[in-house]
Amino acid sequence: MEGKKGLIVGVANEKSLCWGIAQVLARHGAKIAFTYAGEILEKRVKPLAESIGSDFVMEMDVTDDAGMDRAFEEYKARYGQMDFLVHGAAFSDKTELKGFYYNTSRANFKMSLDISAYSFTALASRAQAIMPSGGAMLTLSFYGAQRAVPNYNVMGVAKAALEASVRYLAADLGPRNIRVNAISAGPIKTLASSGISNFKELHKMGAAGSPMGRNVTQEEVGGAGLFLLSDISSAVTGEVIFVDGGFHAAIMKPEGE
Ligand code: NAD
Repeated sequence: MEGKKGLIVGVANEKSLCWGIAQVLARHGAKIAFTYAGEILEKRVKPLAESIGSDFVMEMDVTDDAGMDRAFEEYKARYGQMDFLVHGAAFSDKTELKGFYYNTSRANFKMSLDISAYSFTALASRAQAIMPSGGAMLTLSFYGAQRAVPNYNVMGVAKAALEASVRYLAADLGPRNIRVNAISAGPIKTLASSGISNFKELHKMGAAGSPMGRNVTQEEVGGAGLFLLSDISSAVTGEVIFVDGGFHAAIMKPEGE
């Protein structure tokens, strides 16, 4: 990643999946700008950025088009072009991340899809304009996009839209050597995942039901991020790569294992 620079949207604290990606990218020489959403998070994101040598931290709420334009202007003014974009923004009303999916309200459906799915397209649109020599974009998904996972509810629908966006964006941008991929990560305890009712159970199941018999780490998500954002994966696009210890690939482990 030496000589590459980019933007990471989705660090809230040291447990964030995006922070796992940021650390690995920085270790491999990337120059990174960060955004945060809200004053409380600024206090957490700034010291994290500084710890990996970045003093470039901007406020950006992904529901605010004018604010996104301002952040990209600032990025352009400081870094010029962009080589990579990482998107890890997601949000839903936690009172609806429990019980039946059919109870989802129109207002929360719109908000969840806006923040957790549309925002990637809105960022990609602005990022592609400053990727004249190609680049790579990455977002974060979960298996609830492809199977109904208890309590994940409208977030699963948002992740399905997000994964479809990855394919459409990859088709749009492939001719310009801009690749677009997603990592579907196994359950990890973070601020966002704490909003899912009974997440503890999901976390336990993630370990018990995966061929590797354990949950994954932030660092392992970071490793896959490094692969997808670097030139090593130069022919990979439109893909959703699972970093889940194989959970999605198996229904039972061999007996005695
Ligand atoms: P997190 O809480 O650390 O990150 C979520 C991020 O979304 C935060 O940085 C938050 O500021 C940002 N965000 C929310 N609303 C926003 C808005 N309006 N504008 C800008 N940013 C906004 O939690 P995380 O688990 O690291 O989540 C990162 C991504 O990884 C999410 O897309 C999540 O769905 C996905 N993911 C998480 C897990 C898991 O188990 N933790 C598993 C698979 C995928």
